[in-house]
Amino acid sequence: MQGLSRDHSAANAASADAMSSSRLPALFAAQRHHFTYSEAPKLVYWEATQSCALACVHCRAAALAHRHPDELSTAEARAFLHQIVSFESKPLPHLVITGGDPLRRPDLFSLIEYGRSLGLSISVTPAGTAALTPEVIEQFKQAGVASLALSLDGAMAAAHDAFRGVAGSFAWTVNGARAIVAQGIPLQINTMVTAQTLADLPQIYEVIKELGITRWALFFLIATGRGSSLAEVSPAQSERLLNWLWEISRSPETPFVIKTTEAHHYRRIAVQRMQQRMSEEQIFNTPVGRGFGIRDGNGIVFVSHLGEVYPSGFLPLGAGNVRESSLVDIYRDSALFQALRDPDQLTGKCGDCPFRIVCGGSRARAYAATGDPLASDPLCVYQPRALHS
Ligand code: SF4
Repeated sequence: MQGLSRDHSAANAASADAMSSSRLPALFAAQRHHFTYSEAPKLVYWEATQSCALACVHCRAAALAHRHPDELSTAEARAFLHQIVSFESKPLPHLVITGGDPLRRPDLFSLIEYGRSLGLSISVTPAGTAALTPEVIEQFKQAGVASLALSLDGAMAAAHDAFRGVAGSFAWTVNGARAIVAQGIPLQINTMVTAQTLADLPQIYEVIKELGITRWALFFLIATGRGSSLAEVSPAQSERLLNWLWEISRSPETPFVIKTTEAHHYRRIAVQRMQQRMSEEQIFNTPVGRGFGIRDGNGIVFVSHLGEVYPSGFLPLGAGNVRESSLVDIYRDSALFQALRDPDQLTGKCGDCPFRIVCGGSRARAYAATGDPLASDPLCVYQPRALHS
């Protein structure tokens, strides 16, 4: 597809100059409190188990065949659900149950039922395996999940199955996707962005256009866990890809929302493209605008299968454990989370950047690359004006 090879750097540089003289940086600063999630996260990710029948080459969880004997028990998981409710935010944080494969927990549906009874909205990311039967999908429907998410990393079975490490996963995933949509459950498709999957993304887009999904979430690889054996896309490839994603997100042929994970500079590109023809209010009300500011530790918290609390699933710096401390206290008061929420503590070009309040870069990638979670995100090509002069 032409968009993936088109060079946008000159247009974006010109737009960045326009940004320097626009009202937007001042507006971001004035509305900074809207983009800072000090009291409660928007999203709580819970790695219910690391057990999974797949053996994905990139797996953050380094998934295992068997459940860890020390993962949160049913009683501990229930107590953890109460901790989420204790944020007392309106609305409450949305819970995403992930893994591993959450279906490996026999108490999964009873925990969803319990969380729903506490007033939580809950999404689940089951693995695309033979366990994802029409009966199980019917159970998700009856349990009242807000949405389900499945991973698709190739447009054809050979590529997806090689990535997921098990023959048959592509068929299970596509059949599962069709059954989920037929049940009327909103479906998100997750796709890993790596040097290996990059060329296949336009074909994956064509496949998922036909599935009736509500959201395409692209996860930009952080070299961690099994993923350290894969290659990230280059900064130039990332710039071209994010511009292409922005263009297809605006196309009437795209019947779903597009979201990126650990590529927050998509927001910078979206602002650069939008400011030429939209008002500030219109920009803030787009799907990408509503996500401004959210990044590892700011609007997001991740709880591992052992109860350890991290700023995200890709930033392996623990700040406490829900077995010993309140998730609310850890999120609000830990020095790590407070630093990650403060764009003035960012260093390098992210610290100089007029987009730092709404973007702020991937803290996980900065940590993976430098050992400092407040350093610059090396995947972003943008050079703030201060570094030119
Ligand atoms: S330099 Fe950092 S804050 Fe600015 S757009 Fe790039 S990643 Fe975001």
